[in-house]
Amino acid sequence: MAACSGDTTGSQVSGHSTSKSRRKICDKHNRAELFMSRTDANPFRRFVKCPERVRGCTFFDWVDDPMPDYQTMWVERLKMQKESLEDQVEGKMAMVNNLSERIELKEHEILLLRGKCAELEAMVKQCRRNSCLMKGVVALGVFGLLFVIVLVVVLKY
Ligand SMILES: [Zn+2]
Repeated sequence: MAACSGDTTGSQVSGHSTSKSRRKICDKHNRAELFMSRTDANPFRRFVKCPERVRGCTFFDWVDDPMPDYQTMWVERLKMQKESLEDQVEGKMAMVNNLSERIELKEHEILLLRGKCAELEAMVKQCRRNSCLMKGVVALGVFGLLFVIVLVVVLKY
């Protein structure tokens, strides 16, 4: 069997085909190229046409018989499944994009929070220093007060 080709390229088909009922070669130019139909009406149905078609030759013939109804139905069903899967892929891609954007935002937030964290740590250190200073002042005050009380008591007696 000759290899099937797309709509744009074709390969030469030899005249000795198995199907007797169909012409496989243009009588006028003794040439033909094999193609495969991608239309909804004739999916994957092979046909031949003359390479001289561009110069007006009208030779065209189907190689395969029309697809039976049940096969056409299956092709339609598979097409619908393909479309559904493509929709799903599109939906998932949109989700991935959305999540990527959210991750980017969160990364930005993390950076901001790290900056704030560093600021707070610096403030805590400063507070600790201040607190030490205050403790010293309070201790000095208490000591002074005790000294005064002791002095008063000693002078009284
Ligand atoms: Zn021709």
